[in-house]
Amino acid sequence: MPIYEYETIVPGKGCEKCRKRFEVIQDINEAPLSKCPYCGNPVRKLVSWCRAAVVEVSVEATRVENKVKEYEREGMWSHAAELADSYSEKTKDSTLKTRALEDYKKAGYDLNSLG
Ligand SMILES: [Zn+2]
Repeated sequence: MPIYEYETIVPGKGCEKCRKRFEVIQDINEAPLSKCPYCGNPVRKLVSWCRAAVVEVSVEATRVENKVKEYEREGMWSHAAELADSYSEKTKDSTLKTRALEDYKKAGYDLNSLG
């Protein structure tokens, strides 16, 4: 079931939970909450946790890509290759995997021995 985030509509009002943000696991067919379940203060739904998670991944991907570029610029091919390779394993990113293989080649690795 998806996780939804809520926050108070009235800044400074509400309890410890809704003054910050709180997460509620709800069925997709369930109506969104209009009140904090802890104190009854009016609340509104924020972006879903799922969408937030995707943003985090793309921020991380950008960071990894920049680091790979940096290694490539400095001619540190094996570093670039290892980073791209391990990250592509994690994300199943075939573009990054191809890049890792190219960097391994530039680093002088024998690709056949890598398997
Ligand atoms: Zn509350």
